[in-house]
Amino acid sequence: MMLSPVESALAYARENAARFRAQLVELLRIPSISTLPDHAADVERAAEWLIADLRRIGMTRAEIFRADGYLPLVYAEWLGAGEGAPTVLLYCHYDVQPAEIEAGWVTDPFDPVERDGKLYARGAVDSKSHVIIQLKALEALLAAGGPPVNIKLLFEGEEESGSEHIFQFVRDNRDLLRADACVLSDGSFPDVNQPVLDYGLRGIVAMEITVTGPTRDLHSGHYGGSVHNPIQALSAMLAQMHDADGRVLVPGFYDGVRPITDEERAVMADYERWVMDEWRSFTGAPQPWGEPEYRIHERLGARPTLEFNGIYGGFSGPGVKTVLPSKATVKITCRLVPDQDPDQVVERVRDFVAQITPPTVTSTFTPGSDRASGVIFDRDTPAMRAAAEAYARGWGARPIYAREGGSIPVVEVFQKYLSESIVLMPFGYKGCGAHSANEYVILDMFHKGIDTMIYFHDVFAEAFASAT
Ligand SMILES: [Zn+2]
Repeated sequence: MMLSPVESALAYARENAARFRAQLVELLRIPSISTLPDHAADVERAAEWLIADLRRIGMTRAEIFRADGYLPLVYAEWLGAGEGAPTVLLYCHYDVQPAEIEAGWVTDPFDPVERDGKLYARGAVDSKSHVIIQLKALEALLAAGGPPVNIKLLFEGEEESGSEHIFQFVRDNRDLLRADACVLSDGSFPDVNQPVLDYGLRGIVAMEITVTGPTRDLHSGHYGGSVHNPIQALSAMLAQMHDADGRVLVPGFYDGVRPITDEERAVMADYERWVMDEWRSFTGAPQPWGEPEYRIHERLGARPTLEFNGIYGGFSGPGVKTVLPSKATVKITCRLVPDQDPDQVVERVRDFVAQITPPTVTSTFTPGSDRASGVIFDRDTPAMRAAAEAYARGWGARPIYAREGGSIPVVEVFQKYLSESIVLMPFGYKGCGAHSANEYVILDMFHKGIDTMIYFHDVFAEAFASAT
């Protein structure tokens, strides 16, 4: 009996499963830590490894792009489906976070070990399994005669260290990269058996406020009671930034916030139980907190926040020091939602800080360079429908829809310059310890991910053709 191209790609993936795992192990052995300059050569080596494999599987173009002072970006393409077929841009990152064995690793983070169906190594879930899933789904489709879509592929080597270069790269190479849909593959599900399609991400802005009282640290006996303590002044200022339920009191902070519609509330409702299970097991907090008129999963994805990330000043060593400090500082980040304007949020906080600084101290406001808008993607695009169908076939479960509380700044430039149609396709599990000790990938999820991507390309080609 003749196999369809998808069936023969799936059969190929099954026959080559052991080698696919072995290749994942090979890539995991390369400590491509982008945050540590000492490992720049390893990031380079990982990029070369990818190029070699991309050429071997039959991509027609595979090359490294690098700008001075930046780590390599790997680009590859296969345009064999022809002009009438849609083009998919796949994005993943192949760099990893640092990992020291002393941080609690049971085995060497760069010597992958398999135990109970899990493969332990730094980068296992974040995000080298995603890289190999994309690569091997393509290999299987190419071996079966070629995918029904054109493929462009961008693997980033500095996602974990700020993604500085990729913004400019996308702006400068929009013709090279343009596609009918962008698939960003990274991230995780709240449950091994429950795929999630995130159709929104929060944005982010950062800032720092320093309050200065006296010009130098003072003796608390000589001056205490006569000088406004900057820690106290800053604390009083911060206490004015939220009400008791967590609503942000900075005037204009909520300008532009898109309300959650009833339709969206219904779509997101399925996510609640997964979020609550995860929330309870992971946070350990005595009880939930925050805007009471929103459910927790709504607060996390669809509402903005103003968070104090750290506060310092004065003496915090062991023992006692009777100091009346000169300065106190707070670091703040805000998670934003559509359609808040990041620049405007920063200005509003700046104005509010100026307004509430008491005359007994001075304050300086320093905006951070991190700045991304919140985004929402259309759930009813051919690519989004294809992703849902691909998960259903590859995972055996229909995905639930959610808005993710975190930020992926690169999404904004993809959406702006490359394609309106964005899909986030994660294949990890939240408990896999991304960025922590003993990170792992569940091998069953790795293989299902490859099958799911094989289905995706096939279903997307059809969905796109019937939509145009
Ligand atoms: Zn990461």
